[in-house]
Amino acid sequence: MTHAIELRDLHKHFGRNEVLRGIDMTVDPGQVVCVIGPSGSGKSTLLRCVNLLERPTRGKVFVEGVEVTDPDVDIDAVRRRIGMVFQQFNLFPHMTSLQNVMIAQQRVLKRGRREAEVIARENLDKVGVGSKCDVPPSQLSGGQQQRVAIARALAMSPDLMLFDEPTSALDPELVGDVLTVMRKLAEEGMTMLVVTHEMGFAREVADRVVFMDGGVIVEDGVPAQVIGDPQHERTRVFLHRVL
Ligand code: ADP
Ligand code: MG
Repeated sequence: MTHAIELRDLHKHFGRNEVLRGIDMTVDPGQVVCVIGPSGSGKSTLLRCVNLLERPTRGKVFVEGVEVTDPDVDIDAVRRRIGMVFQQFNLFPHMTSLQNVMIAQQRVLKRGRREAEVIARENLDKVGVGSKCDVPPSQLSGGQQQRVAIARALAMSPDLMLFDEPTSALDPELVGDVLTVMRKLAEEGMTMLVVTHEMGFAREVADRVVFMDGGVIVEDGVPAQVIGDPQHERTRVFLHRVL
């Protein structure tokens, strides 16, 4: 079977700062893999290397069997199959929710206005903000804005989704609605690579949990193992701090 994502001996330096020091990991189609670890351990950099928002210094990245680190690859075509959701929602402030979810469909996928609108409404409904189509982000809560951002990614019909701490900027009472949407996506079989500090979500939804520290993977296994019965002292110290 072709992996949805495969990282082989991935290294990333920023100047003399070696942020990723040889990462090997895979995500299979339909899997949810959660990446946990302390701030500065390289989690965002790892995620950004998957769609070449950061170009690895060394090593290979494969998405659905295509080596995206090959200089000859059409990276825009690969990126179209990957949805990404950030901690900051990055919605256009001067557009309504509906327009935010339509724009890339029209510009990137060249869908017609009508088709883009139908797909936008479907996805806004799906994430529970269908009643907010006509308002700009400023009139939405953080949780609603993040769900619009998820709808925007889903409207592009991605094969896989990358989430970088999607709930970290939210007030605690708004976190649950976003996690519910992500859980639903997981249940529908979406392939997801999720950087998160939400240990409950990781434990219940992830097929695997990857603990990173200092630019390396320290542990990679099922949640019951990595979170429930960690084998490494560094994992125990981290979990002790966040749980
Ligand atoms: P995490 O997401 O686990 O908190 P990051 O991947 O954001 O970690 O960052 C890991 C390290 O890489 C940090 O020391 C950070 O300062 C550095 N870093 C990240 N992005 C850049 C960049 N674009 N330029 C220089 N240094 C960076
Ligand atoms: Mg980060």
